[in-house]
Amino acid sequence: MASFQKIKGTQDFYGLDAVKLKYIEKVCSEVSESFGFSEMITPIFESTGVFTRLGDESDIVTKEMYTFLDRGKRSITLRPEGTAPVVRSFIENKLYANNNDLSKYYYFGPIFRYERPQAGRYRQFHQFGVEVFGKSSALLDVDVILSGFAIIEKLGIKNITLKINSIGDLESRTNYANALKKHFDGFKEEMCIDCQRRLDKNPLRILDCKIDYDKDFIVNAPKIKDYLNEDSKQYFNEVLQGLDAFKIPYEVDYNLVRGLDYYTDTVFEYIINSDDEFNNLALCAGGKYGHLVKDLNGPDIPGIGYAFGVERILGLLDKQNIWPDFKNNVDVFIMSLDEVSKLEALRLAFFLRKLGLVVEMDYKNYNMKNQFKLSDRLNADYILIIGESERQNQEISLKDVKQRTQINVKINELLKHLPFENLRNTEEIFNYENS
Ligand code: AMP
Repeated sequence: MASFQKIKGTQDFYGLDAVKLKYIEKVCSEVSESFGFSEMITPIFESTGVFTRLGDESDIVTKEMYTFLDRGKRSITLRPEGTAPVVRSFIENKLYANNNDLSKYYYFGPIFRYERPQAGRYRQFHQFGVEVFGKSSALLDVDVILSGFAIIEKLGIKNITLKINSIGDLESRTNYANALKKHFDGFKEEMCIDCQRRLDKNPLRILDCKIDYDKDFIVNAPKIKDYLNEDSKQYFNEVLQGLDAFKIPYEVDYNLVRGLDYYTDTVFEYIINSDDEFNNLALCAGGKYGHLVKDLNGPDIPGIGYAFGVERILGLLDKQNIWPDFKNNVDVFIMSLDEVSKLEALRLAFFLRKLGLVVEMDYKNYNMKNQFKLSDRLNADYILIIGESERQNQEISLKDVKQRTQINVKINELLKHLPFENLRNTEEIFNYENS
């Protein structure tokens, strides 16, 4: 039988890559917490309706979802994005009920899209995202955009441009959609089949068609900026003025409409500038969604959020070589030279681990050379050696790998000789006999 392989477009994370993924999660979470966000963890699958709602015409919803019937014949979808599940939870748990100000959440987890796998594009990838519910405020939009920037800065990522646009309130959008429809009606014959369908359902979606995007009828289409009503214009200006107060380089991009249908007013992306295939890909994307909560049968509360592609962050940190020093995580390796010593080693390892050290040992070898090799591979800071003579003298041999020194210490005094911070604060008395 052929051996199993991972599904196309998915990845295994192990060793250093798993450490990197966790590091990104940690930085994103910590920065978000400093902005007042708290974590929300929703299920990986939802009822399909959470994503399809009132006929979303985006590619993500119409073509890329992993949707299946479960054994109870319910239509289930692996989440293709993080916003709708958070909104579903916000409504279902009435998180708006005793809160007349803002609700701020962040999330981290896998996202599933049936896309063509290529550089920076997977079928299962991770997003880190935030969502804020409760107010329509240009200053809030700026603060949310800033929180994304703070993550980029904290990670040390360079060469990112903020692209921003307004797609207006409902009235502006409706006027714009009508203008687009009028314009595109004359080109129906030239359009791909999807765009012909979009023409009736949501002509805005034609603008980010992956097939026709560079055709004249799209390039020369009316621009949203000419259809923003006064309220939308003023709102957008306030957002831009807010951004001007910071040194974030941004570009207004009137063609930015974003991949999902639910956005209103502010939309933005942090775009990667590089000399490889990542160039022009979005590292982070988001926007304001004035009516999504209502569309999912919740109260009429506006929201705003964004999502980072975590694999893209990982790729950039690799390329820009800006990872912190990941310390090898084995503090102590215990070598044991005979069968009785192996059991002592196990006891000692258990004891030291309880005190917070990372401890490894050898379970099988009596041979010193092999055990040194293993501790080398694990990159341990200290090696403890137990053999028959050490046991008889209630001693242990302690080798400081970096300093290349080795001393024999009384087993009950071992902690004094191990310079780890977590051992200094322990109340435990190191009593080997009674441990
Ligand atoms: P979106 O939800 O489409 O706005 O995407 C938000 C972010 O997720 C993007 O800016 C990318 O960084 C990342 N992303 C989107 N699709 C993929 C994918 N197929 N593979 C990896 N990352 C992705």
